[in-house]
Amino acid sequence: MVTVRDVVEVLDEIAPRELAEDWDRVGPQVVPPGAWGREVGRVLVCLDVTLEVAREACEGDVVVSHHPLIFRPLSRVEGRVHVLLREVLDSGAVYVAVHTNWDRAEGGVADSLARRLNLRVLRETGSGARLCEVRDVEGLLNAGRNLSPLFRVFGPVGDWRRVLVAPGSVPSEVVGEAERFGVDAVIGGEVGYHVRCELLWSGVSVVELGHDYSELPGVQALARALSDKLEGVDVRVVPPPDVEVSR
Ligand SMILES: [Zn+2]
Repeated sequence: MVTVRDVVEVLDEIAPRELAEDWDRVGPQVVPPGAWGREVGRVLVCLDVTLEVAREACEGDVVVSHHPLIFRPLSRVEGRVHVLLREVLDSGAVYVAVHTNWDRAEGGVADSLARRLNLRVLRETGSGARLCEVRDVEGLLNAGRNLSPLFRVFGPVGDWRRVLVAPGSVPSEVVGEAERFGVDAVIGGEVGYHVRCELLWSGVSVVELGHDYSELPGVQALARALSDKLEGVDVRVVPPPDVEVSR
């Protein structure tokens, strides 16, 4: 029998909590009384704890989300937060967050995105980004287009040799790292205006995939890793709704 405690231990092996940034909130966040020793029937893996996820969850489930359910301290429970919290508590499930610890972990969000884009990872850069070697520029761009309807390239596309991969929000340290490692492009989830300008000014192109889409390969990889380690437990991904984009 696999218990809630076992699932949390396996998560700590896959995505050690010490890897998380100090401002982050990771680990178990909602634990009903007496839940630790309870048998787990299902693990639901998601990007965010949405109303749909909480409505799908039931007692006996562990919900593992990439973005923490509880991040900023709650000062008021009202409106949408009230509705969501009620669903979360009524579900009877345990909720655990694996956020920046899974971003940085080996085989985590950054490695999974690089792999999905057909890149060879050379090293971690310090900020959590991955320095990668490009094998085929067209293949890289096509993989990006297939992954995300939000795919955009800023700056020229050329014979790119090395790129930095930084899923989610691209931190400003990546500007210095791009220069230090002499990369041709930065591939990120969400690139702020000033970060994008600085990269373009230093001759580095920018590929933006959208915060959510850039992290999906990592969410899928987490579900696979859990499924390998938790025999007999039904592990499934609850995908975020597709974003409707018009222009
Ligand atoms: Zn994120």
